[in-house]
Amino acid sequence: MRAEIITVGSEIILGSILNTNAQYLTRRLGEIGIEVLYHTSLKDNKEQLKQVIKTGLKRADLLIFTGGLGPTGDDFTKEVVSETLGLKLYLDKNIKNNIQNYFNKNNKSMTPNNIKQAYIPEGSKSIKNDIGTAPGIFIEWENKILVLLPGPPREMQHMFNKYIIPLIKQDCIMKETTIKTIGIGESHLETILKDIINSGDNPTIATYASEGIVDIKIVAKGNNEDYVNTLLRQTIEKIKDRIAENIYSYNNETIEEVVYKLLKENKLKIAFAESCTGGLITSRFTKIPGVSEVFDRGIVTYSNISKMKELNVKKHTLDKYGAVSKEVALEMAKGLLEKTNVDIALSTTGLAGPTNGDENKPIGLVFIGIATKEELIAKEFRLSGDRTSVQNKASLNAFNELRKILLNM
Ligand code: ATP
Ligand code: MG
Repeated sequence: MRAEIITVGSEIILGSILNTNAQYLTRRLGEIGIEVLYHTSLKDNKEQLKQVIKTGLKRADLLIFTGGLGPTGDDFTKEVVSETLGLKLYLDKNIKNNIQNYFNKNNKSMTPNNIKQAYIPEGSKSIKNDIGTAPGIFIEWENKILVLLPGPPREMQHMFNKYIIPLIKQDCIMKETTIKTIGIGESHLETILKDIINSGDNPTIATYASEGIVDIKIVAKGNNEDYVNTLLRQTIEKIKDRIAENIYSYNNETIEEVVYKLLKENKLKIAFAESCTGGLITSRFTKIPGVSEVFDRGIVTYSNISKMKELNVKKHTLDKYGAVSKEVALEMAKGLLEKTNVDIALSTTGLAGPTNGDENKPIGLVFIGIATKEELIAKEFRLSGDRTSVQNKASLNAFNELRKILLNM
């Protein structure tokens, strides 16, 4: 939340008094984590005040005014703020009574112009003045907060501490959500979402990349829960419209957790036959508690012999296309499905490096095969990075391919 302090009073501008209100409020706001971006001081001038309000609404979320709330003719902060926001003033009987009581208690007689102080803008809260007569005003307007306090420092400080701080704290709701994506690089993603990311500072949108995955973190703020939720939902929808295919979670789950949930929901069993990933897929998957419900087995078939023996990959296929090939990935998945009788079988074969790549089959070339009772597919990936990185990315992509297939099963 960004704040601006607006101190109204010719005495300040003429140098007759020191603007201690601005300093005090800035310090107190800082203590509760609110940054003050601007101090504006102006004479008791209606037209200038109007301009200052308009500027303030453009550049801050919280505007705190002091001064000009008293009964005299040159006190008009409340009237000008109401007029600028388009809010009508109405007579609040409670405030009128409070002022009357104040005069009775202090053995003074109330003058008609004191009634002026009992008017407040529609939809606002009046803030009790325990020390003087002018009440403060708390206005929530189009997701902005405007606070009007009297000029005398003693009154202003007391009201700010006792009534305003609790209201501001309660009205500063912040919520965040993380969209997890796979298959688009961070800079490409930022280009696709550029206008949404740059459209303002509420919500704030930031991307965080880690090997193969980019998280989009959205933080929305506001002074009411519905507003914040709507803001978050609208932003998620906008992002979804552009990259739905690449989003695997809105709840901070890992991709293997998403696959596990989909299998569980559909009551399906799975098995893995891993070559280049060396058991990494199985290892990641079995970290999820409860996975035995959906997981049959994971075997590492690293050598050609093991691919033939365990998965019935044909020697002819290995000789003709090589172990790192679409054809072998397909046969591995198909063989595993037949052998295990699961609902879905996944295979990996690839070149993790750092040696043994060539022009036709570069390091990072990975095939992922998936077999179900209805389908047999294999996908080719060209992954970058060192050995560990290629293995990590291959396992992520394997889970992502599973996710896509499971969504349509
Ligand atoms: P009142 O009912 O006392 O008239 P008000 O809200 O109308 O209150 P002003 O008339 O603007 O306030 O100022 C009243 C007095 O408060 C000033 O004479 C000054 O002593 C003090 N004051 C006002 N603004 C500030 C400020 N920014 N910093 C320090 N003191 C201030
Ligand atoms: Mg005054």
